[in-house]
Amino acid sequence: MPLRRALYTESPSEPALDTPAEVSIPFPAVKQAIDRAYEKPVLLLDADIIRTKCRRFHAAMPRVHPHYAVKANPDPRVLRTLIEEGCGFEIASISELDLLLSLGVPAAEIYYSNPMKSRAFLQVAAARGVEWYVVDSLEELAKVVSVKADAKLYVRIDAPNVGSDWPLSGKFGAHPSEADDIIAEAARLGADLAGVTFHVGSQCRNPENWRVGIESAKRLMRKMRLMGLNPRLLNLGGGYPVQHTKAIPSIEAIGAVITRALEDLPPSVRVMAEPGRFLVSDAGWFVCRVVGTATRAGKRWAYLDAGMFGGIIETVEGLEYNVLTDRQGAPTSWCVAGPTCDSVDIVMRDQLLPEDLVADDFVYIPNAGAYTTAYASQFNGFPLPEVRFIS
Ligand SMILES: *Cc1c(COP(=O)(O)O)cnc(C)c1O
Repeated sequence: MPLRRALYTESPSEPALDTPAEVSIPFPAVKQAIDRAYEKPVLLLDADIIRTKCRRFHAAMPRVHPHYAVKANPDPRVLRTLIEEGCGFEIASISELDLLLSLGVPAAEIYYSNPMKSRAFLQVAAARGVEWYVVDSLEELAKVVSVKADAKLYVRIDAPNVGSDWPLSGKFGAHPSEADDIIAEAARLGADLAGVTFHVGSQCRNPENWRVGIESAKRLMRKMRLMGLNPRLLNLGGGYPVQHTKAIPSIEAIGAVITRALEDLPPSVRVMAEPGRFLVSDAGWFVCRVVGTATRAGKRWAYLDAGMFGGIIETVEGLEYNVLTDRQGAPTSWCVAGPTCDSVDIVMRDQLLPEDLVADDFVYIPNAGAYTTAYASQFNGFPLPEVRFIS
C-alpha cells in the first residue's frame, strides 16, 4: 500500500482542528533501511525530526520552556538530541534521574513530577541535587518536606481532560479544596511551595483544557501569595498531540491559546511544560513482521512479531495507528495480535489491512516514536525491539 497522502491532510468533518502537515521519515527511506537489515522489531528514528519538533514547540509558545517527559522514550540518543536542543527534563524514578545525570544534565534542570515518590527515591534524588518536586496531597507534602526541608515544591491540581485520548483525572491531582489545604499546610510548615502544575491528559485534542488549567493555576497562585508563599513556577504538563488517524489541533493553535492565557502572568513566574509524545512520536516508524495468519470463525487474524509486550500497546487503550504494508490487496478487517501465548496480547480488533497479507510481510507504523519501545518487555522470551537511528 502506498503511503496515503490523506494521512497528513485536514479532516473536513472536524473544521475546528487545524491539522498541520506533520513531519515523518519518508516511507521509501523506511523500506530501504528495513531491506538492509531486519532481525527483530525495530523503531527507526530520525534525530533531525526530534530537533524540528523541539524548535516548533518552542516557536509556538516562546515563553514556555520544554522539559521532556523521559518515559515517552528514554533512549540515550533521544535524550542527547534533546539536551543539544536545550530541553530540560521531567522524571518519575531514580533510573530516569541517573540516566540524565550520566548524560551530563544538571540536577537543577530535572523536575521530579511523579506525584507518588517513595521515601527511598526522594532521599536519592535529594542527595543527587534535584531541587523541584511535585506534591498533590497533604501526605506527599509531609513526606517530601521530611526528606528535604528546603525542597522547591509545585502542587499538581486536577485539570479537565476533556478530549484527551488518555484521561488522567482521578489518579492524580488535588481538587480545589484539597489544593487550599495543601497551600495552608505548606505555609504553616514554612515549606517553599513555589508553583502549580496540571496535566490535561495525553494526546489531548482540546486546547481549551490548557486555558482552563492555566486560569485555575493563576487563581491558586494568587491564594499562595496571600498566604505568604512565593509562587514562581507554572508547569503546563504534557499532553500535546501528534497525528495518527484523527485530526489534531496544531501545536501553533495550542500555543496561541496558551500564550494568550499567559498574558497577565507576572514575568517573575517561570513557565515550563512537559511534552513527551509531541517531541518524539513523529520521529519514529515502528516496523515489525507478520509471523503468521489464520482464519478463525470467519475472521482474519494476523500475528505479528511485536504485540502489546513488544511495543504496540497504546492501541489497547484506544489509540488508532495508521498501519502500512507492501501489499496492494483490497482492505479488509483483521484482528491483529502479538506473538506471545497470553490471550490478552491482541492489539487491534478491527484493523483494515490488505486481504493478501501473509507471513513474513512487513508492517509499518508511522509516528510511533513515543510509548512503544519504552513499554516493551521480554515476556515469553521475545526480544526487545531494536532502536535504530537513520540520522
Ligand atoms: C507522562 C507525563 C508527561 C508527558 O505526557 P505526554 O502526553 O507524552 O506529553 C508529562 N508530565 C507528566 C507528569 C507525565 O506523567
